[in-house]
Amino acid sequence: MPTSRIVLLAGDGIGPEIAREARLVLEVLVPDAQLDEQLIGAAAIRATGEPLPADSLDACRGATAVLKGPVGDPEFDAADVRPEQGLLALRAALDTYANLRPAVQGGVDVLIVRELVGGLYFGARGTREDGTVFDTCEYHPRQVERIVRRGFELARGRRGHLTSVDKANVLETSRLWRRIVDRMAPSYPDVTVEHMLVDNAAMQLATTPQQFDVLVTENMFGDILSDLAAAVTGGLGLAPSASLSDGGPGLFEPVHGSAHDIAGRGAANPTAMLRSTALLLEHGLGLRDRAAALTRAIDGALATVRTPDLGGTATTSDLGAAVREQLAVDGAVAVS
Ligand code: NAD
Repeated sequence: MPTSRIVLLAGDGIGPEIAREARLVLEVLVPDAQLDEQLIGAAAIRATGEPLPADSLDACRGATAVLKGPVGDPEFDAADVRPEQGLLALRAALDTYANLRPAVQGGVDVLIVRELVGGLYFGARGTREDGTVFDTCEYHPRQVERIVRRGFELARGRRGHLTSVDKANVLETSRLWRRIVDRMAPSYPDVTVEHMLVDNAAMQLATTPQQFDVLVTENMFGDILSDLAAAVTGGLGLAPSASLSDGGPGLFEPVHGSAHDIAGRGAANPTAMLRSTALLLEHGLGLRDRAAALTRAIDGALATVRTPDLGGTATTSDLGAAVREQLAVDGAVAVS
């Protein structure tokens, strides 16, 4: 098997602190993999003037998988060139249209499948002469079909229930979305489908999240609902994501942002980044056993070692070290 090449983009704020723990775990679990650190976000703007320098993008395009920390820095909030532009450009360049956001805790096991490279975040925007500012939401049927298909396929491999979330009582793009879901449903007789309006979906997720299996939705609805799902299953510090394309490298990153309020203090919870690393092992490198070993090690470590966001006093590196200890106890280091 050729050596895997993993590009690590540490990002901004708490990014470098949590990326360090991910790197140490990868060195244990995939010692043969090449790890290539590149710049993105505010760190890249400071070094090169660009939020996604050509070297970083080229490295990502040629990688087996990309592991990314959060980007964003208040210093650039009002600037024309902003760190988050690098992230959107990377998602678009890799065409990672399928964003998988698992939220698991107790009786809750929801997988949110969010369309990632279309809709309001990528539509035409601007300012009219009268001062009106606008963003537009557009979807081509092909963009909807491919993400809805992912939703059906993923539901088929889980508990067989798909909730499609839209705002079809108001939006044309949602009515297109609903037509496509209904047209594809007969091809998946083993999956039960329901449509839910996004406002209701938010309420249901907050009150009875255990009713959901796979939830498929467009870009902005998915952005908001997945943070809500993260909040009801233990908080942002725990929530990972995988963004997949058809055939190219996947992008794996925590759901949370760069958390400048706690950056540089060793107080960041590395769990979301480490769970994203587990998703990378599974979906990016096809190493299910090692992904499962890492997930067990994270759960084992969290039983006793807790960072401040979880009510404990452990540091980022305390939790990272506890995860690596669990891996050694589990014998996962020797997994071939
Ligand atoms: P945030 O996720 O950075 O922080 C929200 C709250 O959660 C803060 O109180 C923070 O301390 C806490 N938090 C987040 N991650 C944590 C962790 N791992 N451990 C412990 N506590 C954690 O959200 P924000 O403040 O809205 O955004 C800050 C910056 O991050 C902005 O510039 C935003 O654009 C950017 N952002 C980037 C991404 C990304 O790169 N994918 C995602 C969201 C936000």
